[in-house]
Amino acid sequence: MRNDPWYRNLALIGLTAAVLCFWPAVCMGQDDVKAYKVIVDPGHGGQDTGSKGPGGLLEKNITMALAKKLVQALEETGKVRPELTRTDDQAVSLDDRAGLANHNHGDLFISLHLGTTFAPDPTGFSIYYWSPTTASPTATPSSNTVRPWDQEQEPYWEKSRMLASLMREELLWSIPWASGGVLPADIYLLRRARMPAVMLELGSLNHLEEAAQLQKPEFQAAVAKAVTQGIIKYRSLEEKGILIRPKTPE
Ligand SMILES: [Zn+2]
Repeated sequence: MRNDPWYRNLALIGLTAAVLCFWPAVCMGQDDVKAYKVIVDPGHGGQDTGSKGPGGLLEKNITMALAKKLVQALEETGKVRPELTRTDDQAVSLDDRAGLANHNHGDLFISLHLGTTFAPDPTGFSIYYWSPTTASPTATPSSNTVRPWDQEQEPYWEKSRMLASLMREELLWSIPWASGGVLPADIYLLRRARMPAVMLELGSLNHLEEAAQLQKPEFQAAVAKAVTQGIIKYRSLEEKGILIRPKTPE
């Protein structure tokens, strides 16, 4: 095209850009197209191993395996962009986890944990959300426009409860475990999240049957799929502007 006039090249570039822009991913970038961002938080990491199970089983490793399965399931929907608070075996403080979620403008925050039990019965799963009824007294806001760091969850707690309820339903359908319920709790991490946020506590690592299940990739995938379904259902209700208010605490 050496002999072509300059304006012809310009017209060609313009035409190419116009055609490509019919495909938003090219013009806006992946970030904008899959803008609904779910922050996936694998509990513990590094020196902080979390709870321990038989044969050197550590909570931090199971939460990471579950988180990776969840990321995969969320990506497969094509509607959600997941982001991890840690990608390998490193210690990340609770402040950094919440800070990263807020800084990256997450739409939802899902923290994954396992429990510990001293009872012979399996514990099943429970889903926690923060609620004002559980809150310990905090400092009064210094101004009307700036919300203190430990009260970030306040505008979102009802949405968090809705998300937890939807997830619980999906998990009850998908895994053969009983549910300990959807429970309010004053959890340090959740109250600092500036988005609907829940913590899933899945079984106990020191319960032999639950520990065996938790290590199975098929079980982890079933959990990930159920949590993803809960998120997708929540998302569609949110898009319609519907906020479910459970009549009684679960
Ligand atoms: Zn934990």
